[in-house]
Amino acid sequence: MIDLPEAIARIERAAAPLPRRRMSLLDACGRALAAPVVSDVDSPPWDRAMMDGFAVRGDDFSAGSAEVVELDVAVDLAAGDVTSLTIARGACGRIMTGAPVPAGADAIVPVEAAVDDTARVHAGGRVRLRDDQFRAGQHIARQGAAFRRGQEVLAVGMTLGSAEIGLAAEAGATHVTAMPRVRVAILSTGSELVPPAAVPAFGQTRNSNGPMIAAAVHLLGAEPIPLGIAADRPEAIRAAVAQGLAADVLVLSGGVSAGDLDLVPEIFRQCGVEKIFHKVRLKPGKPVWFGMLQREGATPTLVFGLPGNPASSLVCFELFARPAIAILAGRPREAWHLPRRPARLTGPAKAAADRPVYLPCRLDASGDALAATPLPWSGSSDLLGLAGAAGLLALPAGGRRYEAGEEVEVVLR
Ligand code: AMP
Ligand code: MG
Repeated sequence: MIDLPEAIARIERAAAPLPRRRMSLLDACGRALAAPVVSDVDSPPWDRAMMDGFAVRGDDFSAGSAEVVELDVAVDLAAGDVTSLTIARGACGRIMTGAPVPAGADAIVPVEAAVDDTARVHAGGRVRLRDDQFRAGQHIARQGAAFRRGQEVLAVGMTLGSAEIGLAAEAGATHVTAMPRVRVAILSTGSELVPPAAVPAFGQTRNSNGPMIAAAVHLLGAEPIPLGIAADRPEAIRAAVAQGLAADVLVLSGGVSAGDLDLVPEIFRQCGVEKIFHKVRLKPGKPVWFGMLQREGATPTLVFGLPGNPASSLVCFELFARPAIAILAGRPREAWHLPRRPARLTGPAKAAADRPVYLPCRLDASGDALAATPLPWSGSSDLLGLAGAAGLLALPAGGRRYEAGEEVEVVLR
């Protein structure tokens, strides 16, 4: 049996980022960028009108003046139109948002500033403009104001969300080099297990771990590969494990503690999975198993044997499998683990004597601190107590009773 920090250190040593890959922008959504994106254009690409109105010369206007300026409309410019014409003094161009500002013009007067029924005047007519808010250069987005051609606009390690995908598209990248999606096989073991759609007979238990771990994997941006249920027979577990070992990560639950039918550690050994640890001083989750399968010509498969009790399974997934998946996905170190914060207890909580304990709690903001309220929870098989819990109280070993008002550490879920 090892301590939690040692277990986490061994996982961090065993896990390494998967090989990066070229992929389409949509495939890259939610992944970590693995090569910078450099723009092939300025943004804006040219001086761009930001209002519908008239492209004018500032020297035809005086700032803050309410006087009417009358100008010849020399050209009509909608978005997509260009002109080689230069706007001379006393003239302007009728221009729509998104069109390039013509040479000579250096400000846009909004169409709302046209007076005496001249707002609809086109090329060949004369417009009368009164803009007492006039500022030099107004309503023009200047070429390169956001970024320049040749500039790195997305850096390695950034997560590609919607804005980042849009930016890559603007910068001319139809494909990017990003981290592949981590494939996580999920296997539930236990002869008592039935699928969630079944009504359990006496002695049977619904497989809640399968959907729960698949959801946790999905929420990490990884790809769950559900393998269903294997009964506690060596051939059944071995066949399913062999299938799961083709993934980047195998997360199995059940069969890892000390019962007669806890066959999993022996089957892992038979399948060539090297044990890195078995059993961690932790409550819930003591029987957790971790190892690695080296594969010829491929990246290794990381293997987690989680305890069968659902709350233990989830706590172990969050503490152990989450950082492994994050590392494989190329996430930055600060995103490997759930965040931990100090919080003040609002009611008593009891630590375990022999190992650190994790207890579901509610979290409320109280000033700039957090208030943690322990939730009713009947132990490692109780998912109701965990559902809706925003955090887990992390109490060190020692068996002490913590009182309301004491500061404790919480893990944010
Ligand atoms: P085990 O770790 O196999 O000894 O299982 C411990 C407890 O967790 C037993 O009560 C099992 O019935 C239960 N259990 C195991 N696997 C699952 C699962 N996939 N879904 C719900 N409960 C489970
Ligand atoms: Mg079992």
